[in-house]
Amino acid sequence: MALNFLTMDLDTVTVHVGKADTSVDITVYRDILSAVSPYFRSAFEGPFVEATDRSISLTDVTEQTFRMFLQWTQTQNNQRPSGATFPKHEILIRRSTAKSADINAMSPTELHPPRNTTLALDEAGDRNLSISNKDLVRLYFKNPEWVEGYRLSLLSFLRLYAFADKYNVPQLRDDVLTAMVSQSMSWNGWPDLEQGVIELAYAMLPSSSKFIRFFVLSTAYVWLSQDGNCSATKLRILRELNEDFAFDVMVVQNQRLQHKRLPDRMPSRFEGAVPNACILHEHLVQDAEHCRKRVRDQPYIFTGLIEMCAQDASTTAKESEEE
Ligand SMILES: [Zn+2]
Repeated sequence: MALNFLTMDLDTVTVHVGKADTSVDITVYRDILSAVSPYFRSAFEGPFVEATDRSISLTDVTEQTFRMFLQWTQTQNNQRPSGATFPKHEILIRRSTAKSADINAMSPTELHPPRNTTLALDEAGDRNLSISNKDLVRLYFKNPEWVEGYRLSLLSFLRLYAFADKYNVPQLRDDVLTAMVSQSMSWNGWPDLEQGVIELAYAMLPSSSKFIRFFVLSTAYVWLSQDGNCSATKLRILRELNEDFAFDVMVVQNQRLQHKRLPDRMPSRFEGAVPNACILHEHLVQDAEHCRKRVRDQPYIFTGLIEMCAQDASTTAKESEEE
């Protein structure tokens, strides 16, 4: 799906982003939209009013989400776009003792690169992190400000994924999940039962969506298995959250329990069930083999997404503080 900017048609279109009274007009090369999305391709190249008007309204998309999408399209050109800076691999393992909610404020001097550099960003394996799990829990996972920043970044991933679902950008759907799995691998922590994120995901996406699948697996393998077994209380919480979600989590849980007695049992740890992000991919644009090569060779695509969502989260956190 590489975009060739040399042979590209430089026709532009106007995208009205946001609700009618507050919408923002953004001018975009038509071919950029058409290359990544069959939805935009048919809108601008078919016999529709959008093609004649050379404009389209996306009332259910925020300006921030659309700009993140445009920034992502630049990374699809097989090369880093000139002038754009993408975070290095190390951003994923930034760890700081600062108690700031601002994920981006973490000091680069705190970087601890993984010793095992043969792992792709989204691959499970021993990263030899120099911070202990105990410190990780104390400094981050039990820090309400960090937890809020993390939750906001998941919401940002969700908005981007929902855009890719509604406007049919299959590669972006796979890439968002790679970024989320990479982020989790680097933190050695999987989403807890993020109720707000899960509720919104069901409101915005079909229940069969791979984004929801990520939370189903994470809830079954991590949340449900914490402190021993799944209790009646936990089951009740799940069912109150969403019946479909509770059902899917229980299916995974039952499969794990049944397979335990068989030689080819299901993995007991999340990292075994999701050795890399491909288990969550649709592979509609890149097949599995090319996908693995892409994740390995072009990590900036995914670190770019993580960076954008972290940035979006810290902006949102600041805005809500000022209000
Ligand atoms: Zn894949």
